Amino acid sequence: MSQAMEESKQEVNSDATTSSRGTDTASAPPDSLKLHRKINRYAAIFTPFMLVGAVGYATWVVVALLSGITILAIYSILFLAMVLCYARLIWTMFFDNGYVPLEPTNNHVGQYLNRSAIVHGSEKSPEGLDFFTSRPMFECDIDGLPRWCNTCKIWKPDRSHHCSQVGRCVYKMDHFCPWAGGVVCETSFKFFIQFCCYAALYCLFVLIVTAYSFTQLEDRNSFYGRNTAATIGIATVFGLFSGCLGGQSLQFASKNTTTVDNLGHANKIYSFAVRCSVDAAETDVHTTRITYPLDWKLRGNEAPPNAQTFRVWQTPVGYNPYDLGVGLENLKTTMGYSVLDWLLPIRHSPSTAFLKVKDGGEAGAQAMYKTRNAVEAIKPPTTV
Ligand SMILES: [Zn+2]
Repeated sequence: MSQAMEESKQEVNSDATTSSRGTDTASAPPDSLKLHRKINRYAAIFTPFMLVGAVGYATWVVVALLSGITILAIYSILFLAMVLCYARLIWTMFFDNGYVPLEPTNNHVGQYLNRSAIVHGSEKSPEGLDFFTSRPMFECDIDGLPRWCNTCKIWKPDRSHHCSQVGRCVYKMDHFCPWAGGVVCETSFKFFIQFCCYAALYCLFVLIVTAYSFTQLEDRNSFYGRNTAATIGIATVFGLFSGCLGGQSLQFASKNTTTVDNLGHANKIYSFAVRCSVDAAETDVHTTRITYPLDWKLRGNEAPPNAQTFRVWQTPVGYNPYDLGVGLENLKTTMGYSVLDWLLPIRHSPSTAFLKVKDGGEAGAQAMYKTRNAVEAIKPPTTV
């Protein structure tokens, strides 16, 4: 867990650099990061074997030594649910990993992105802005441009962060998970929560069954006694670990935040570009405003017909604009709208809807994520 938190801190630091200056350098990773990656790589290889060994041993103890039809039935259900969620989590991390697509045409962009020149239209913008300007609002930097990742060389969509472990920006990144060898993010957060919760329930059940059997044994130093005691220890350790992870993840989901977003949230300020009419923006001198496409001033005094003007607003310090205000509503955006969605690792989170929308269309013109009274709550920043 501490490793995941440390990793997440690195992401936040990386993001802070990118967001405030937009000029983080794409230099070679430092030795500490290389070591981190190496440890995580070995952990990802070793962990499945450790899990299979621990679960296999517990299964042998419960099924072979403590058999009983009720125990076996409950054990089988929890075992199956846990294994299915783990398989779904791994499958998602490999085949639906939530990485933000790259823009190959941006490879020419150098290490320094001249945001000011891009804003004023004197320098051509890297590709990818259409994704943002087709929406009514998007997360941006203080100048009205989206956040920029100088490693991936892309404009960063709302809530995405760069993961240094995999070297890519990831939608709604939570943390890099050495247990599963991938990034817990928008596409996999639900399955990660389900896996942790079922694993905790499985361990709790094994713990109760083995602890009760242990108290009934006459000879606790027998073959049965020693194996039962060992299983109690394993179930306690894994149960506490998965229970804490699952509980914390559920807590984050109930606040519509992530491990990355939660770090330093008390001092965090979000900036949003909110679409407005060109005329309204011209009469409002109190907010930063930006009109796309960015090079229209160079082509004439009149804004082109397809111009989209946005005003930049900022949230109060420590305000989470994605928190819908009601814990259950927040949970539904991750876990789903039905009981089956919550229990079964089949359908993706409703908040992934934007990933299914191809170019254009009414659905594609929505903001990426719901926000709570965002326009009412956020305030204009100092004009730049
Ligand atoms: Zn990136």
